[in-house]
Amino acid sequence: MANESFLVTIGLEIHAQLKSQTKLFSPDRAGWTEGENDEVHPVSLALPGSLPVLNEMALKMALKTGLAFKGQIKNGSVFARKNYFYPDLPKGYQISQYDKPFCEGGQVCFFNKDREISISLERIHLEEDAGRSLHKGAHSLINFNRAGIPLLEIVTKPEITDPHTASLCAKAIRRTLRYLEVCDGNLEEGSMRCDCNVSIRPKEQTELGTKVELKNINSFRFIEKALFYEIDRQTERLKSGEKIIQETRLYDPSKNQTRLMRVKESASDYRYFPDPDLPQVYFEEKLLNQLKLPELAFEKSQRFIQDYHLKAETAQALVEDKNSADYFEQIALESKSPQTVSLWFRGELQAQLKERNQSACPIPAKDFSRLLKLIDEGVISNKMAKEIFNEMWDKGLSPEKIIQEKNLKQISGEEELKRLVIQTLTKHPGQVKAYKAGKTKLFGFFVGQIMKETRGQANPQKLSQLLKKELEEG
Ligand code: MN
Repeated sequence: MANESFLVTIGLEIHAQLKSQTKLFSPDRAGWTEGENDEVHPVSLALPGSLPVLNEMALKMALKTGLAFKGQIKNGSVFARKNYFYPDLPKGYQISQYDKPFCEGGQVCFFNKDREISISLERIHLEEDAGRSLHKGAHSLINFNRAGIPLLEIVTKPEITDPHTASLCAKAIRRTLRYLEVCDGNLEEGSMRCDCNVSIRPKEQTELGTKVELKNINSFRFIEKALFYEIDRQTERLKSGEKIIQETRLYDPSKNQTRLMRVKESASDYRYFPDPDLPQVYFEEKLLNQLKLPELAFEKSQRFIQDYHLKAETAQALVEDKNSADYFEQIALESKSPQTVSLWFRGELQAQLKERNQSACPIPAKDFSRLLKLIDEGVISNKMAKEIFNEMWDKGLSPEKIIQEKNLKQISGEEELKRLVIQTLTKHPGQVKAYKAGKTKLFGFFVGQIMKETRGQANPQKLSQLLKKELEEG
């Protein structure tokens, strides 16, 4: 880490907007809207006499998430008022959970390269979001559409010891939320918000150092950058004999710095107490059995490693998106070589999706796997396959059809290749002489000439075998 005489401790607090139809305690819509103050039920505005009613769908999503992270689900959890003043918080308090959250413990599992990592969770609780403040010149505007949208707060134990693992852990949490379809996990748009608590302490000290909370981090890359900056800042302070102050800092990506936002309140400043308008949350135990969990990202990656003999890192990358993981599996099952499929997924497919700015590939799995089979059988080269792949994407045709149309078959016949080799060597006697005198780098020149001649259709392995033979013996 930044300095060998200090230990780093990081914990994450993630706020995830639940994809429920309506808000946590009122019937106005919860989704993202372009409008301003058009989803404002009396409860969202805290009008006098309005009373909150818990959204059953949001509770089910929350319970599902707790189960997915293997936490202990608590019956009888309590909603508490967290009191503070802010213009976008019309009640003067946020309804959250304090000493009795609905889920305690649990873990986040993921891979760092080939190493399996498990970070313990402290708790998961439900709370409502605040409104949004918009500052325009001398004015501040408030949009209450977001006020009351259900949030899950997922808190890890302070067990993470480096910025990269912190970012991998946040990513793993997002994968789970997306697999459960409870949150779209968009950091840039704020539907998932990630705060990092970080402290450092001298190696010989056992109790944790004073923690600083970093807010406003809207990408996984910035999680790492903000933490690196903050660890350096704290290390410098301790080394020069200064104390760390418990505070909340904002990360500014344009300067790659953190700056003071406010000196941190302690829990007692919030005067938490059970919300008298809301009863304790009880549900029948059988509800938990009815909540069906899909195969989750981490389990899927473990299965991919087993079934398709993939590296952990590759498997984790493949399961990042559920639809894309399913697509991979359809093709891998058809194909004899899952390794080739995974290479294509991480290479050409990724590149094309990015270039075309699309989220999914329209080529049917069967066609995709036949294309890869044609490479394995030596009918086409890898380079030709990329060209065909592109055409398949654009025209929706099968690989065979395109090969036929463009006359793209690979030249693998020994006689034809040999003829090409001899023809090329005869054309370039000077280079042949130089090659035989020891300038073996010219091998690539001959290959290049033949590839040019055949528009890349010569089978590269067979060509290079024959060429070598001819140069050495001929
Ligand atoms: Mn919170």
